[in-house]
Amino acid sequence: MDIDTAFCYHCRRHHPLVEMRQIASKGGKKWRCIKSIQATKQGIAARDAFGRQVTAMNSTKQSQIVKATLNPLNPLNQETRTENCP
Ligand SMILES: [Zn+2]
Repeated sequence: MDIDTAFCYHCRRHHPLVEMRQIASKGGKKWRCIKSIQATKQGIAARDAFGRQVTAMNSTKQSQIVKATLNPLNPLNQETRTENCP
């Protein structure tokens, strides 16, 4: 992989340089990803909304898994299947 990366001091991980901005600070120049800069600009409210979105996505995924797990155990489904069998 030839993609240049830099260490993001906000996320404490490396991102591709194209997703990052260099920030001048007292201790020198630091790299920070555009996403984290925008998230800070939008404020805590926006970050909370993003967190809720992720939580909603996770719970939707979880309920889908629960449904998929429960369906074969549903006695109504089994009865229907038996009736449809010749
Ligand atoms: Zn970052």
